[in-house]
Amino acid sequence: MKKKEFKAESKRLLDLMINSIYTNKEIFLRELISNASDAIDKLYYRSLTDRKVKLEKEDFFIKIDVDKEKNTLTITDNGCGMTEAELEENLGTIAQSGTLLFKEENKNKDMDIIGQFGVGFYSAFMVSDKIEVVSKKFGEDKAFVWESSGASGYTIEETEKEDFGTSIILHLKEDDEDYEYSKYLDSFTIENLVKKYSDYIKYPIKMDVTHEHKKEDSDEVEEHTHEETLNSMVPLWKKDKKEVTDEDYERFYMDKFYDYEKPLRTIHSKVEGQCSYNALLFIPGKAPFDFYTKDYEKGLELYSNGVLIMEKCSDLLPDYFSFVKGLVDTPDVSLNISREILQQNKQVQIIAKSIETKVKKELENLLEENREEYEKFFKTFGIQLKFGIYNGYGVNKDTLKDLVMFYSSNEKALTTLKEYVSRMKEEQDKIYYACGETVDKIDLLPQVEMVKDKGYEVLYLTEYVDEFALQVLMEYDNKKFVNVSSENLDLDSEEEKEELKKNNEESKDMFLFMKDSLKNEVKAVRFTKRLKNHPVCLTSEGNVSIEMEKVINAMPTDEKVKAETVLEINESHPIADKIKDLYENDKEALDKYTKVLYSQARLIEGLPIENPTEISNLICEIMTDN
Ligand code: ADP
Repeated sequence: MKKKEFKAESKRLLDLMINSIYTNKEIFLRELISNASDAIDKLYYRSLTDRKVKLEKEDFFIKIDVDKEKNTLTITDNGCGMTEAELEENLGTIAQSGTLLFKEENKNKDMDIIGQFGVGFYSAFMVSDKIEVVSKKFGEDKAFVWESSGASGYTIEETEKEDFGTSIILHLKEDDEDYEYSKYLDSFTIENLVKKYSDYIKYPIKMDVTHEHKKEDSDEVEEHTHEETLNSMVPLWKKDKKEVTDEDYERFYMDKFYDYEKPLRTIHSKVEGQCSYNALLFIPGKAPFDFYTKDYEKGLELYSNGVLIMEKCSDLLPDYFSFVKGLVDTPDVSLNISREILQQNKQVQIIAKSIETKVKKELENLLEENREEYEKFFKTFGIQLKFGIYNGYGVNKDTLKDLVMFYSSNEKALTTLKEYVSRMKEEQDKIYYACGETVDKIDLLPQVEMVKDKGYEVLYLTEYVDEFALQVLMEYDNKKFVNVSSENLDLDSEEEKEELKKNNEESKDMFLFMKDSLKNEVKAVRFTKRLKNHPVCLTSEGNVSIEMEKVINAMPTDEKVKAETVLEINESHPIADKIKDLYENDKEALDKYTKVLYSQARLIEGLPIENPTEISNLICEIMTDN
């Protein structure tokens, strides 16, 4: 019989398992039981949908056998079983989760990986020298045995097996100084592990358990062996909340969703009425590694009366809550429901709405009760919420507007809009914001200085979606959002406005000359009062701000936009007198000055300069009075 090699990726994982110093070896049992349960699920599901399969739920079981003499631990199920080809395919290559695992960057943190991902079947090599998988597919005559002693490869040959299903026979490693493998031959250990990790498995996990009894009227001890069911079989989500500890929830979440961190929040709810369902939802503490890639698929597991009918039901979650993990169990959807029908299913829509409300409420509570954790959450997933506001022309803005946060000039910390408004000055009727790459860079923007100086708080928008989200919101609590770089800033008193208007009028010709110098790059040049110490800035008019121009033009489409910009010059800065003087006496110099001033304003905004060599030469010419 020919020995076959494992595929390269499998080999690495196997090596890892065999030489594992990972302390949590015991999880192998959970993994094997979970595979057995999945295999039974598959057959049970068929029995419900295919009348030819005459099996009842009560017929299914998982059995654990220990053989101290042979040093083996066997896990048997009467699930779907595997054909020869399936044994080859399923156990010769590692499954999806494993494949992903090696694409991950942190290859060096091998030990973490086991905790991070479900490694499934191969984890049994942490405790075994040799593994035999004896399997007979339901409805087939032939049975096969897959055997492997680890990385050297595996064999598959025909064998005898009476019933359909699968038996996994683990030949346990010998005890050594570091680890006592023989403990897995002890029924007490197994009982505890099943309770700890697999209690909610829907099918009975049985084992022969021996109890000692003292004989009456004598000191002799009698042994009785019974087959016992080790698990309660009630899924965690169907249990009463009072019976479930935080630790139960955490372990369930971490095992099921392959996270090595506890969830930030858990929502366990039971709803009866128009639509009945149990839901167990988790808000993760950190983003899954593929969260911000197109590979990430949102969705909740959907069960119909305890039977899994869909692993990722995306219709149960809005995009902006795509980070939520969990499951929904409802008697109101039928087992045979297809993905297409599900989309239009009224019950599913009602459940989705109700889940959305619950998640929102939970986030609001978190924000209220634990600011620090909410900020942690927001830094991880907040961008989703902002996209949620922006998408669909703002249909969900009311749901989300109190959940989003922005940095602000108020201690450069994150703030909600509600908090901003609560700190507003009495006469203030606008919410000011400024955009830039980082909080510190925005804090130094010339346009921001004056607004802050007048005692107003400024939101510092650092994410590219921020300004789009605010534009969709338009206002909060009847206060309009205003970019400090926009024409509508309107901070000056009537008197100041008059004066500025007059000054601008007087220098009208000079400004036209300057605009010409810039070859109409800007819509206008004018004096401003919005700057305190800085000489120039660039502001925008119309709907497209400078920041938006940057964002939209960075996108890989042909559609380019241009913000209508205005070069503003600080009226009370010495440069104002200088240019007036040049306009009278040296127009050639003014032309150079204008170009340099405009470049300065662009630099401050983080915009590129189209002609850096020319500008650099101009600066030198000015420096050397040429
Ligand atoms: P995963 O469970 O994550 O898919 P595993 O490595 O644990 O990965 O298992 C690989 C595959 O082997 C499973 O997807 C399943 O198809 C098959 N398998 C494992 N155990 C059993 C079993 N007891 N009965 C039937 N098929 C099984």
